[in-house]
Amino acid sequence: MAAIDVLEHRLSGKPWSGSSERFSDVYDPNRGTARARVRLADESDVDEVVRVAVEAQREWAAWNPQRRARVLLRFLQLANQHHDELAALLSAEHGKTLPDARGDIQRGLEVIEFAAGAPHLLKGEYSTDAGGGIDVYSMRQPLGVVAAITPFNFPAMIPLWKLGPALACGNAVVLKPSERDPSVPIRIAELFDEAGLPPGVLTVLHGDKVAVDALLVHPDIQAVGFVGSTPIAQYVYATATAHGKRAQCFGGAKNHLIVMPDADLDQAADAISGAAFGSAGQRCMAVSVAVPVGEQTADALVAKLAERARNLTIGRSDSETADLGPLVGADAAQRVTAAIAAGAEEGAELVVDGRGITPPDGGEGGWFVGGTLFDRVTTDMSLYRDEIFGPVLSVVRAADYEQALRLPNENVYGNGVSIFTRDGDAARNFAARVNTGMVGVNVPIPVPIAYHTFGGWKASGFGDLNQHGPDSFKFYTRTKTVTSRWPSGIKDGASFVIPTMS
Ligand code: NAD
Repeated sequence: MAAIDVLEHRLSGKPWSGSSERFSDVYDPNRGTARARVRLADESDVDEVVRVAVEAQREWAAWNPQRRARVLLRFLQLANQHHDELAALLSAEHGKTLPDARGDIQRGLEVIEFAAGAPHLLKGEYSTDAGGGIDVYSMRQPLGVVAAITPFNFPAMIPLWKLGPALACGNAVVLKPSERDPSVPIRIAELFDEAGLPPGVLTVLHGDKVAVDALLVHPDIQAVGFVGSTPIAQYVYATATAHGKRAQCFGGAKNHLIVMPDADLDQAADAISGAAFGSAGQRCMAVSVAVPVGEQTADALVAKLAERARNLTIGRSDSETADLGPLVGADAAQRVTAAIAAGAEEGAELVVDGRGITPPDGGEGGWFVGGTLFDRVTTDMSLYRDEIFGPVLSVVRAADYEQALRLPNENVYGNGVSIFTRDGDAARNFAARVNTGMVGVNVPIPVPIAYHTFGGWKASGFGDLNQHGPDSFKFYTRTKTVTSRWPSGIKDGASFVIPTMS
C-alpha cells in the first residue's frame, strides 16, 4: 500500500512539523477510506507559533492599510485563478458537490473583497473644537495575535471570513481549522504567502482540543473567533473570556421556514428542499424545520416536498450534477441514521427514508444518506430538539401564524429563519417579532452578503459582535480616543474638576 500523505502545519511560509507525533486521519467520504493524515499540535507547538506570530504582527501592523489591502487583492486574484483546484480539494475531503464547493469558496472570497476596503473601514472619528481649542479623534488599532478556530462544514468560507478582516486590520492570525478537512486552509495559506503576506502573519496550526485549549489560555492570544457546535462554542467563549480575551463564538442551529397559506407552494418546496438537503444538510443555515400554516397548506406542501426528496440525485462529491454528496464522516452518518430511527420511534411520520442508499456512482463504504422527510413532528421529539446536521427535514404543522411564530421564538437556537408569503404585512410583522439573528423573506438561506454582518442569537452565538461586515472591523480592532489641545490654554494651570463641554 502506498504511504499516506502527512498534512503538516504551515508556519512562516513553509510546512512545519512541530514536536507533536499525534495524527488524525483525513477521509474520502465517497469511499470511507483515509486519504491522508493530519498532524495534531500540542501545547509547545502553540507556544512556538504564537511566539513567531507576535514578532511578525509588529511589522505587519506597521504597514499602511492600503499596502495590507493590496496583499488581500493579490490573494483574491490568485484564489480566483485556483478556484477549481480549491473546489476539487474541498469537495474531496468534505463531500459537498463541486458546484457547492465553488460556492463555499466564493462566499469566502466576497469577504476578502469587503476587507480590502480596510483603508476606508479603519478610519476613525474626528470632532474638531469639542471644547475650547480641543480636538477629539479616535483610531482603530489591531489587537495583536488572534486565533481562528473553524468547523469542517465550510473549510474555505469560514476561515476566509476570519482571515479577511483580521489581517486587513493588521493582526497576525493563528488559524486552527477543522482536522476533518484541513487541505483547503493549507492551500489558502500558501496562496496568501504567494500574495506577499509577510512570514509568520498567518499560521495554520492543525489540532484538536489540545491545541484549542492551549490557544484559549495563551497570554499572547488577544481574541478568539470560533465557529462550530453549540457546546464547544459555549465552552470556548467561557474559557477565552475567563482568560481576558475578546471572543465571538458561533454555534449550532435549528432553522425554521414558515410557509403561509398564500405562498407559492412550488417555489417554497423548491427553496426548502435545496436548503434542507443541499450539502447533505451540513450547513448551519440549513432549513431543518418546515412550518406550513393550516392543514391545507401542510397537506399540499408535504406532497410537494416528498416528491422532491424522492427525486434527489445523490452522488459522489466530484459530480457536477448531483444534488448532494456524502456526509463528512462515519460518525456523522451514524448520528443521522440514529436520529431518523429515533424520529420514527417517537411517532413522527416517516414520509421519505434516506437510509441505506448507495448512489450508482458512489463507491462501497461511502457515507451517503439520502433526503429524509418527516411529517407531524412535535416539539417534544428529539428530531425537533436536536441539531441533526444531515439531510433530514421535519415538518411541524401550525394552526395559524401566531403558533408558527412561537416555534422559532421558543427554540433554543436563533441562527436563521424564513417566511414564505405574498403578504408584505405578514412578512414585516414576522421580521420585527422573530427572535432570530438572520431572517429571510421568500429567501430560504438568509446568509447576509459580505458587507452586512452574520450572526445568530440565543444558543447560536456567544459574544456581541457578528462576523464580517462592519462588526468584523470592530471585533478585530480596539478603539483609542485622543483628546488634544494645542497650545494656548495649556499654561492655565491644573484643573481638578472633570472637564465638561458646557
Ligand atoms: P465542532 O464543534 O465539532 O468543531 C469546531 C472546531 O472546534 C474544530 O476546529 C474542532 O477541532 C474544535 N473542537 C472540537 N471539539 C472540541 C473540544 N472538545 N474542545 C475544543 N475544541 C474542539 O463543529 P463541526 O462538527 O466541525 O461543525 C459543525 C457545527 O458547526 C454545527 O453545529 C454547525 O451548526 C456549526 N456551524 C455554525 C456556524 C455559525 O456561523 N453559527 C457556521 C458553520 C457551522
